Amino acid sequence: MTDYTTHNEQNNNTKLTAKSSSKIAIIGGGLSGLFTATLLERKFAQHSDLQITLFEKSRGVGRLATRYRCDTTTGKNWQWSFGAQFFTAKTDSFQQFITPWLDSGLLQPWRAQVVSLSIVDEAGQPPHIKQREQWGTEQARYVSTPKMTSWGRALADQLQQTTMQFKIRVAPLAQYSNPQAGQPTELFDDNGESLGRFDWVICTAPNGQAAELMADSGFTEHAKILQPEMLACYTLMLGWNDESKLPDGLKSSNNNQGLKLWDVAYLQDSILAKIFVEYHKPNHDGLLPSVTIHADNDWSQQQVEQDIEEMTARLLAAAKEALSWSEQTAPSQIDCHRWRYAATSMALNDEGDEQPLGILVDKAQRWIVSGDWCGRGNIESCYQMAEEMVEVIAATLEI
Ligand SMILES: Cc1cc2nc3c(=O)[nH]c(=O)nc-3n(C[C@H](O)[C@H](O)[C@H](O)COP(=O)(O)OP(=O)(O)OC[C@H]3O[C@@H](n4cnc5c(N)ncnc54)[C@H](O)[C@@H]3O)c2cc1C
Repeated sequence: MTDYTTHNEQNNNTKLTAKSSSKIAIIGGGLSGLFTATLLERKFAQHSDLQITLFEKSRGVGRLATRYRCDTTTGKNWQWSFGAQFFTAKTDSFQQFITPWLDSGLLQPWRAQVVSLSIVDEAGQPPHIKQREQWGTEQARYVSTPKMTSWGRALADQLQQTTMQFKIRVAPLAQYSNPQAGQPTELFDDNGESLGRFDWVICTAPNGQAAELMADSGFTEHAKILQPEMLACYTLMLGWNDESKLPDGLKSSNNNQGLKLWDVAYLQDSILAKIFVEYHKPNHDGLLPSVTIHADNDWSQQQVEQDIEEMTARLLAAAKEALSWSEQTAPSQIDCHRWRYAATSMALNDEGDEQPLGILVDKAQRWIVSGDWCGRGNIESCYQMAEEMVEVIAATLEI
């Protein structure tokens, strides 16, 4: 039984002493949840009393997603990372954090050739390709191998004081109980079954879901949860049976300016935003040719409630234009996924610069709401938010 000793009851910055055990619940098994569990375990490595439980409503780790399809003729696979494609590590601490996985080869830098691709609006004209950069020259981009989900699994596997509970949807905090400040929070699943009582509850769900989880709970920062606007993304996944069947736009021989074959294209004046050539990534050898195409976020948001078949047809028409395929070189594999919460649109400060929200803390209730959307909406933000969370907990919890 935890002994909550309040050192200064007038002060919201209450210091708590957990004499026997400290229980922390993390809602969400995406990278924010996994980084938080990892950093908490490292911070409190000397204290065997720390118990972390991570609840995830799906069967695996969050928005990192890999889709496979097997060619029954050749036995080879197509593979698409249809969520995050790569990540940056701009800060020293994140660079240090990823070093063991870089050393093991699970994470690898992708030195992609990046081009701008503009579809010239003249009949019969191939798209105009312009060299942009090679990743790694100024800023490294990393991928997880052999697939994007591999890193999430590796992070989960090395957790020692964390129990992972998949296929558990945590119910809104006020649905089955009446939370009281200064008391442990009892969580319930969506059937009303108790999941236990926790000293700290950390929510890392996307902000729409976080707003529902914290609704009517008295969470002091609730009004801020929906400040960042989340934008959707339609993602098209295409595959070909053989390199010889690739369309002109993906063949090195077609680069009319003598450019090397590209790996990543940023599109201009198109409903498509980026094309990633999946089988060019490091440690992705032996895969059949495939590309993942992310549509423009503003366009996707405007179409978010439209019929997915209709959207697939529109995206395919745009992809055909960008990659110049004929009947003979059309993709044999076509799939489309709609992400409702893909990109974070941050508020702007007086200078017009994007202003990340930061984590939302209710110290009296000992609740933290976080996620990539509290930062810049990318993997590196998940880590930065996890660092902030651990500092807040460390400042109030003596184990
Ligand atoms: C299309 C797309 C492209 C992207 N490209 C890039 C990129 O190139 N580079 C980059 O750095 N980032 C990219 N990102 C962003 C990156 O994927 C995210 O920043 C990161 O995965 C977010 O992790 P998270 O843990 O904050 O959120 P999530 O991965 O969304 O995890 C939150 C988890 O909470 C769970 N959950 C929600 N409610 C409950 C509940 N009630 N009970 C239990 N569990 C719950 C959800 O199931 C989910 O798994 C991309 C994202 C998308 C969608």
